[in-house]
Amino acid sequence: VAPVTRRRKHWGWGFTDEQPSEAALRGSAAAFAAVLGFGETEPEAAVPLERCTLPAPRLHPPAVLRDCCDGSDHARARHAYGSSYRDVVRGFRGRFDNPPDVVAKPRAEAELERVLEWAIGSGAAVIPYGGGTSVVGGVEPIVDRARFEGVVTIDLCRLDRVLEVDEVSQTARIEAGASGPSLEYQLREHRLTLRHYPQSYTQATLGGMIATRAAGHYATRLTHIDELVQSVRAITPAGAWRSLAAPASGAGVSPDRMLLGSEGTLGLITEAWVRVRPRPSFAAETAVRFPDFLSGAAGMREIVQSGLGPTQCRLLDPGEARLTGAGDGSSAVLMLGFESWAHNVKARLALALECCAGHGGVSDPVESRARKDADSEVGRWRESFIRAPYLRDLLVAMGVIAETFETATTWQRFASLHRSVSEATSAAIDAVCGVGLLSCRITHVYPDGPALYWTVLAPGTRGGELAQWDAIKRAAADAVIAGGAPITHHHAVGRDHRPWYDRERPDPFAAALRAAKAAVDPSGALNPGVLIDPA
Ligand SMILES: Cc1cc2nc3c(=O)[nH]c(=O)nc-3n(C[C@H](O)[C@H](O)[C@H](O)COP(=O)(O)OP(=O)(O)OC[C@H]3O[C@@H](n4cnc5c(N)ncnc54)[C@H](O)[C@@H]3O)c2cc1C
Repeated sequence: VAPVTRRRKHWGWGFTDEQPSEAALRGSAAAFAAVLGFGETEPEAAVPLERCTLPAPRLHPPAVLRDCCDGSDHARARHAYGSSYRDVVRGFRGRFDNPPDVVAKPRAEAELERVLEWAIGSGAAVIPYGGGTSVVGGVEPIVDRARFEGVVTIDLCRLDRVLEVDEVSQTARIEAGASGPSLEYQLREHRLTLRHYPQSYTQATLGGMIATRAAGHYATRLTHIDELVQSVRAITPAGAWRSLAAPASGAGVSPDRMLLGSEGTLGLITEAWVRVRPRPSFAAETAVRFPDFLSGAAGMREIVQSGLGPTQCRLLDPGEARLTGAGDGSSAVLMLGFESWAHNVKARLALALECCAGHGGVSDPVESRARKDADSEVGRWRESFIRAPYLRDLLVAMGVIAETFETATTWQRFASLHRSVSEATSAAIDAVCGVGLLSCRITHVYPDGPALYWTVLAPGTRGGELAQWDAIKRAAADAVIAGGAPITHHHAVGRDHRPWYDRERPDPFAAALRAAKAAVDPSGALNPGVLIDPA
């Protein structure tokens, strides 16, 4: 069933038809509380939409646009937040203080242009919306109410087609609102794939991934969507912005690179040419156990600096391995895998395992991906990875603070950054929650350093959990910046990361970005508050 015909939950992850029954929730809550050592076994129920009061809309679309606009409570509530822990808690509790006034779902680019023209002409702020999986306040309509007459969220979900496939060059022109499953489904008839799987893949859209420079499941080389984008088309208030579809261009500052990571502040991305490939026919993967996280990281460094380029190369610390079922908590576990559509990859996996052995890594027998063995460490970890977004809804109902944060650093600074951020975050968890769990994994890996990804799980105080999480996040983010690392590796900036991003980016660059925005968005209507403040 195409996502557009199913009803998304007005809070939390997934569709209404995926919400488990109360009995199932209670059973899962008891099981998780036993694993965590905290969390309430009697899950709280979400406030139903009928009991939520939304502020009256300040704007109404003109008759010619009414067909593609939705002012219902469900649409406004659904588009009031992204998918961070803060968002889920507020939606769960029925708090919708700043919903958009109008949600537009244009059916074609020309209709999107008409919506944009009306919205800007009405003095509204405009929020581009893909799958709403932002975890940094990227789609939350918090705007200066004195400056803007209202908020129009433009949801691109109806622009979801694969428009052209160039099988010779292995590229495809795809509309920005296509979700991961939708675009993969359409590419399948050409026996091609984008193979870009962020954990949010089932809901995230191509346009959203480009706008946030998403990182997929490729742990090396093709990590960021940047590497898969050939050219981008966007509609700005000043007109269409389209880069040339060519494999490479050395002509000045790249127009498509400028849209990558623009987070809805420069224009609405409507389509892109992306690099696709045949589906892999060869795969080999295994789990490697290391005595500890640092020796596992040393093994990873040797693999990636040797130029081997595994597809899957994720290192879980012992705590994370236990929580995901990939280990028993006594060792760090590396998920290691190679894939190719053209040649056998077992020899490359064998070389990578030699790199691991030199650092105390002990591997399981090599598995072929076709088995998808639910009893293997790799299989259990993959299953837990896919189910994690659903699990978070349950944890919220159990009163558990559950959130992640991430960054990247050089190999030289890795050990000290890992220690300082872990210590600062653990201290904050202890101070505000008393107890809790902090685990870390390396999600992506480069020859010059790893991307680190921490998970926080702690018992919250009902009603006070957002303040608790904010204190933990502040301590973690301060430690990341103090360690000379970026505020995010792939979660983007949005509104939530602004205080740290403003410290990280050079001032002349901020001025250049502000000037570029003023040129294409003179009224500063596009996603105000994200990345930079308009001039
Ligand atoms: C459970 C979970 C797991 C996640 N895992 C990953 C992961 O593995 N890797 C990763 O990189 N991220 C991950 N994220 C973060 C998020 O999924 C990504 O940022 C994703 O790329 C956002 O895509 P979206 O379509 O949902 O965009 P949205 O959330 O709708 O929007 C994100 C930002 O992009 C802008 N935007 C959206 N569409 C357009 C458009 N067409 N034109 C212009 N601007 C637009 C919005 O205004 C907003 O600023 C995860 C999030 C969750 C909740």
